[in-house]
Amino acid sequence: MTQQHTTVRRFDFHCHIDLYPDPAAMIAACERSAIVTLAVTTTPNAWPQNRKWTGGNLYVHPAIGLHPEVVGERYDELPLLEAGIRDSRLIGEVGLDGSQQHRKSWKRQIEVFGRVLAEAERLGGRVVSIHSRRAARDVLNSIEEHTTRAHVLPILHWFSGSIADARKAAELGCYFSVNARSLDHETGTALIRSLPDDRLLTETDGPFTSIGDRATTPCDVVTTVERLAAVRSITVQEMAQLVAANAQRVFAFAGLNLEVDTPA
Ligand code: MN
Repeated sequence: MTQQHTTVRRFDFHCHIDLYPDPAAMIAACERSAIVTLAVTTTPNAWPQNRKWTGGNLYVHPAIGLHPEVVGERYDELPLLEAGIRDSRLIGEVGLDGSQQHRKSWKRQIEVFGRVLAEAERLGGRVVSIHSRRAARDVLNSIEEHTTRAHVLPILHWFSGSIADARKAAELGCYFSVNARSLDHETGTALIRSLPDDRLLTETDGPFTSIGDRATTPCDVVTTVERLAAVRSITVQEMAQLVAANAQRVFAFAGLNLEVDTPA
């Protein structure tokens, strides 16, 4: 084998690049450290700017989204979202949030998420980064109702459902992007140990997570891979290669060839 062990790329499958004080600096950091990053958006109104910042970048790939926490006040951006989905193979952040403070918008959340999934299904080749806080079952039900594995590849971001929910999700074809916060507690590590090898991805959810008193950045996935390897009792190199293989499959589903698009 002549594999160059030092060049396995790292991946941040859920990061709000456009919400850092200096997005351009963050994109430059991703390029410098060869971190392939899925730059999710929170509102369709922010999509054109996010796309401009990341456009044509070899490492940072923008996704169009409408965060479930803001669906209540941003419901009128739904047509923009649907138009964006026709434009972009990468979708996120979308999903459902079952927390008490978002209960008021629940019906609209279900409607918006269902329409996103149905449109993604109709168009095909869509990868979707999905928020599911306190709504794991409902998210899985929506995925099952509106999508097929041939057309839509769901990534459950920062998944915190039960091990049984995770098994169901895997059966539906879901991937899991894991961030360091899930590795901080036994419930999280037990869940992560239960996930199939071929569905594991890494993420930061920066800048909404922190390390000490600084916001996480995509470069922090390097540490996440190390910690994941420890939790799953394999070497860091094996873990990195596993995530890279999964990532390549996910991007290929959306028609992006990382070997061509992101030379090492
Ligand atoms: Mn997020």
